[in-house]
Formats: sequence, structure tokens, C-alpha cells
Amino acid sequence: MTATSPQQNPPIIRPDKDRFLGEENPFEAMMSRFDYAAQRLSLDPGLYKVLRRPEKQVTVSVPFQRDNGETDVYTGYRVLYNTSRGPAKGGIRFDLNVTLDEVTALAAWMTWKCAVVNIPFGGSKGGVVCDPADLSDRELERVTRRYTSAIIETLGPDSDVPAPDVNTNERVMAWIMDTYSMHKRHTVTAVVTGKPVQMGGSLGRREATGRGCMIVTKQALQRLKLPVQGTRVVVQGFGNVGSVAAQLMAREGMRVMAVSDKSGGIYNEKGLDIDDVLRYVREHRLLAGYPGAQAITNDELLVLDTDVLVPAALENVITSHNAGNVKAKLICEGANGPTTANADRILDEKGVFVIPDILANAGGVTVSYFEWVQDRGGYFWDEDTVNQRLERIMTESFDQVAGMAAKHGVTPRIGAYMLAIERVALVHKLRGMYA
Ligand code: GLU
Repeated sequence: MTATSPQQNPPIIRPDKDRFLGEENPFEAMMSRFDYAAQRLSLDPGLYKVLRRPEKQVTVSVPFQRDNGETDVYTGYRVLYNTSRGPAKGGIRFDLNVTLDEVTALAAWMTWKCAVVNIPFGGSKGGVVCDPADLSDRELERVTRRYTSAIIETLGPDSDVPAPDVNTNERVMAWIMDTYSMHKRHTVTAVVTGKPVQMGGSLGRREATGRGCMIVTKQALQRLKLPVQGTRVVVQGFGNVGSVAAQLMAREGMRVMAVSDKSGGIYNEKGLDIDDVLRYVREHRLLAGYPGAQAITNDELLVLDTDVLVPAALENVITSHNAGNVKAKLICEGANGPTTANADRILDEKGVFVIPDILANAGGVTVSYFEWVQDRGGYFWDEDTVNQRLERIMTESFDQVAGMAAKHGVTPRIGAYMLAIERVALVHKLRGMYA
């Protein structure tokens, strides 16, 4: 394992320079909002220096054997951004676009997200640069186990607890839990969340991110004095977050007109039967070819005439190039970092209400927290209890974010950052500096 110490000097942010260039660098996207929120809070300059940097960045090589006997080597990362409030918490993604910069931004977002919903975790993230579609099941298992053993020093229920993210799922979490437990010589369920229910996972975890999106969308609609019944919704992404958000919003009476995945989007102005779309995807894997709807591109989907837009796929889909054409009145960010900082300004000028990612998609990590609590207590809750507790945390957090935004006259996103930074900074002050 090679542990690289965080850069000596954090990157310099120039918000007005290179307005288009660098817009899509996720670390700068995170940092530009952090800087503004810190300035509005008059954050102590010492703490400002501390919170602009990750605590630990680990880069590992992941050699593994292909089914045909050949050896390949992937690169993996795990970044612990801040652990002042508790063990680091954050998913692991397997994707060709993974970079250290992206993983660092995502680890910072996890730090702010856990603080926004006030759960006792810090933030981390991991990733392996790979295309899982290029791996057989056995190869995927070997990559997962080798990556886990390469980062094993950071992992542990009290130090760093992974979860699913882009292209990882319950099965990958089961392999991580098993690899860690074999090293420790006893079963440690609380080392990962998002596991299968049969081995210490929590009821309601799989649906939690999408459920959280539905809960805060309803709350925002109420604030905007828009009805829930018949409200038009468009969802980008039909994975674990987007498909569940679409399904639950439809069950609440909203009209989900369009959804999309990497094969493109499907659109029916009268509304889609989401249960039927899910059945189609289970059979055909992708949305392409779904009958009874018009095929559209992902770019077209983002600018459809709708009330609510839920970007629930990847980063940087709403940028300065298309934000001006977005017609939604409300955006619920199911994905992490779907809107760039430049797009924020344009949406704000247009009066679009954005429920920021660090609040909108925090339902997943909230139920991860419930899972960790249940594993450590060895006592499991029924699904209603999980869902009720999730609803309470999401609604309270929404109100706190909205309250902070109103108090300081800032957007909900900056309000959420301010709430999070204030909570993390307070713990730093209380703990003091170990020297
Ligand atoms: N990957 C999810 C996220 O970005 C869940 C993280 C977790 O549950 O630890 O919020």
C-alpha cells in the first residue's frame, strides 16, 4: 500500500477565471461552494485551512488474475476527508472515470452530508478505475477482495465504513465484509453497510436514497405551494436511486413523464407506469426499446417542460451550457454533484429551487447509519421503524437547511454547506488540536 500524504498546498480556486474551463472538476466544484459558505460563516482561519484538505488519501495497485490466466493491474483509491465527528463513511465506486480528485470531492461531500443529517460519521469515498462490464463475476470478486485487502488498514467499524455507490451493490459489500472478517479472524458485520439483509443488512437500505428524495421533494413542493398530485416529474438515471425515486414519487400521485439510463431516455407526457418500466428493465436490462413511450436523449430529458427534475445519475450533467434551458421549477439532486457551480448561479437567477445533493440523497447514508447501529447492537428493526426514522431525519434536516438559507439569504445549497461546516467546525473546536 502506498499512502500519499495530502497535497502540501490545496488547489487555488479562481471562481471568475476560466469560467468554462475546469467547470467540471468535482473537487473545485465542491471547494467553490465550501469557500463561499465558510466566508459567510466567518469561519476561523485556522479551521478553514484544516477543512480544505483531506485527512488521508490512499492509492493502491489492484493486481488480479483474469479468467484466462492473464494478469491485469487496476488502480484503487480510498480517501478519508474528515473524521472529527466519527468513523469515516462513504461508498465505493467501480468506474472508468474514477480519479483521485473525484474521490476526494466525493469524500468531502460525504463529510458535509453526514453533518447535514447530523449522524455521527465523518466522510470518505473509494473507487477502482475499471469498467465492471469488462469483468466476469469471478474477476469482479477477485478485484473486490484484492482492493479490500489493499486498503484494509483504513477499514473498520470504528474507523472507515464503506457502502455501495456507482456500479457496486449488496454482493460487492458481502465480499468486502467477508474479506475483512477473514483478516480479523471473526465476523465483523458493521464494517460495511448496504449488505444483504440475510447477513446484517438493514431493511429499507436499498430504497433509502430514493425514498429520501421523495420525502424532501414533497416538502419542497409544499414550500413552493405546488400540489403533489399530478406534479410532473422527470428522472435522469434508473439505477438504485432514480428507479426507486420514480417509483415512490409515482405512488404519491406525481406524474413521472420521463426516465433514462445509459441507453437513453423514454418519455410519455401522460405519465409512465413505473412498475411496468421496472418489469421491462428486469427483463431487458436497459430502457431502450420500451414500448408506449417516445425515445429521447439524456440531454433532451434534462430540458423537458416539467415541474420537478431529479438528476440521479452522475456528476456534472447540469452545467453552464444547459442550465439556461432547464424548465423545472424544482431540482432534487439524487446524484452527487450533478450541478456545476456555474450552473448554480444560472439556476438561482432563474428562481429554480434546488434541493442540494448533500441533503437530497442523504437518505442512503442515514439508513447506512441505522444499519451500523443495528449491527453493533445485534438487534434488528422492522421496515416501518426504519422508514419512520428516516422520514423524521430527512424532514428535520430539510427544515434546518431551509432555515439556515433563509437566515443568511443564501441558496439551499449554501445553507446546507453552512449547516454542515458549522457542525464539523464545532466538533473541531470542542476536541481541540492534538499536538
Ligand atoms: N454512496 C452513497 C452516497 O453517496 C451511500 C454512502 C453510505 O451509505 O455510506 O451517499
